[in-house]
Amino acid sequence: MKITFLGATGTVTGSCYLLETSGLKILIDFGLYQEENEDNSEISFNPKEIDAVLLTHSHIDHVGRIPLLFKKGFKGKVYCTNQTKELAVIMLKDSANIQERATELENESRIKAGLDKKEPLYNTEDVEISLSYFYPIPFNKKESFKNIIFEFIEAGHILGAASILVDVKENTYHETICFSGDLGNSGNLLLDPPKFNGECDYLVMESTYGNRVHEDVKLRSEKLGDILLDIYNNKEIGIIPTFSLGRTQNIILELKKLLKTDKYRALNSLPIYIDSPLGMKATTIYENNKEALKNNLVNDSNLFHLDNAHFLEELKETFTVIRSDNPKLIISSSGMCNGGKIMFYLKEFLKSNLTNIIFIGYQAENTLGRKILEKNTSVFINKKEYKVNAKIHKINGYSAHADQTDLINFVTNLKKSPDIIFITHGENDSREILKEKLAEKGYRNIILPEKNKQIQM
Ligand SMILES: [Zn+2]
Repeated sequence: MKITFLGATGTVTGSCYLLETSGLKILIDFGLYQEENEDNSEISFNPKEIDAVLLTHSHIDHVGRIPLLFKKGFKGKVYCTNQTKELAVIMLKDSANIQERATELENESRIKAGLDKKEPLYNTEDVEISLSYFYPIPFNKKESFKNIIFEFIEAGHILGAASILVDVKENTYHETICFSGDLGNSGNLLLDPPKFNGECDYLVMESTYGNRVHEDVKLRSEKLGDILLDIYNNKEIGIIPTFSLGRTQNIILELKKLLKTDKYRALNSLPIYIDSPLGMKATTIYENNKEALKNNLVNDSNLFHLDNAHFLEELKETFTVIRSDNPKLIISSSGMCNGGKIMFYLKEFLKSNLTNIIFIGYQAENTLGRKILEKNTSVFINKKEYKVNAKIHKINGYSAHADQTDLINFVTNLKKSPDIIFITHGENDSREILKEKLAEKGYRNIILPEKNKQIQM
């Protein structure tokens, strides 16, 4: 078999691998790049030649270019778990809306400049077409497709997220390759840790936090609780940029836990606004799939209910919250501040030293979130400069991603050492450090593939 690393090499977005075996071409994920300088319309293979797609999960950097694949002539099945299909519906429709709106805006200035109009990367119709080809498979069920057998195994990252074990039969022998997908943080409040502990000849693994160990569960709660208590006591503003899918639901659960403790009981009077239409839809899907969450949550009928939290639906409510009195806590998307409702709050509140931006998720290079996190004194939003006087906080423990310890455990829990480990989905520094750590444990054959690198196995 042959594998080509088409995305998420030295970066964390744009996940895509091409697996080729005798006469068969399979894509694993086809995600959007979220860095500002990447071109999502560029496809380096012929979509008509792809036989099927296997999806690890529904985050947009893994599923976000699937409609483009159909638009360019792909006609095969997209295999994924049941929950990934449900979530992909809302993620892809939201993405199409963003593409359409962005293109509309761009076209206004193109027309003024006498240029031809551009088409969006894909539209809602392309999304509807692609969704009709999604083919859900339950976790842990072996599925055959021509000369491969594959299986989705819980990865604990977000609802429906899977590692994919692919058994490839070529002539008289067969080999196995595991795509870890994004691996969950062992401190995830909603999901069990990654479950794959079998054997594979080759392992393609993520390394988002290959260079870091998260704060432990108790420490992260206290850190968040203390920041929120300061905000409450000093009548300030808290803004948590959060990913709609996974992180929003985890943070609501964390707040519920905090508010029950004596130390943070005062926070029951802190108004909390959850302003993420996509986050609300995702929360409903989590509620409807409780059997896929941790056992202790299955019977909680008010899983995501908080007395002092308000879920905002209309844009006019966003402006009411902006004008409302302090203190207040706003939880809004997108998590890397590269679009979504959070932009309204940032434009209004970045300049104030009463503002606290609390980052709880990964900020990719070249995103607004990364620039704010790196304490730039001013940032540009839609070409306009905004001063940053806000206090910036960072809590690593809430990441949906495995940390260095979790990643190493994932590998050492395998029944046998893979012949080759490919480290992807991480910035180069993370990949290098994870490679060193695994080498210390005796794993010698480790490759950090560059973009478009092809490897024949
Ligand atoms: Zn993910």
